[in-house]
Amino acid sequence: MKVAIDGPAGCGKSTIARMIADNFGFLYINSGNLYRAVTYLALEEKVGWRHVPAMIALAQRHRFDYLPDGSVDADGKRLSGELRTPQVDAIVSQVSAIPEIRAEVNAIIRSISEGKNVVSEGRDITTVVFPDAEVKLYLDASAQIRAERRFRERLAQQASDKLSDAPSIEEIQKNIEMRDKLDTRKAVGALKIAKDAVYLDTSDLTIEQVYEKVYKILMARIGHGRK
Ligand code: C5P
Repeated sequence: MKVAIDGPAGCGKSTIARMIADNFGFLYINSGNLYRAVTYLALEEKVGWRHVPAMIALAQRHRFDYLPDGSVDADGKRLSGELRTPQVDAIVSQVSAIPEIRAEVNAIIRSISEGKNVVSEGRDITTVVFPDAEVKLYLDASAQIRAERRFRERLAQQASDKLSDAPSIEEIQKNIEMRDKLDTRKAVGALKIAKDAVYLDTSDLTIEQVYEKVYKILMARIGHGRK
């Protein structure tokens, strides 16, 4: 069974996907982390994102895999906190707009998912990666609420990973709005609401309330599949 979740940054999709993975024993795939891993390596190797052939070569040169917690293994190195820096946030949408890089990422996700129960989240999971997913969800929330959520996450991450640079809520909201714009206007793999996706506005809901709704949707689908 495939559960596909799309939505903009900070809408709660990673948390919900992780809860589904934990409670139903599904494999969790955070597609954005692979775009972040390519972006992180481009920054490390000083490859400019505008240099498309070099970016494609970089994505093809490295070996990527997903780890069970949603982080990425790049050539045997676990990448986690490195993927969530302001430097990566600033250009990850531009990197993920390169169609050849999207094709690489999608091939990795599909190959890891083969024959498994999977919950995957991102921007084009319901529309491109798993258009036949049994459950499709589109999570949404206002940009302000999403920025507040990301700010709180960053504070927690800063404390645990001892990161020095924590952006302000205003900076986070600006970045989120910039990425929303780029992500909805991509020529390939643009963020959009699939016709057969359940749309959930999470702005005024706690994560537990969102999960309760999602749980009911999943149980109804699982029950339906058994009939
Ligand atoms: O989900 P997250 O915000 O970590 O993703 C980082 C970026 O990767 C997004 O802003 C988007 O540009 C890109 N992305 C994408 N398609 C996906 C997942 C993420 O284009 N399926």
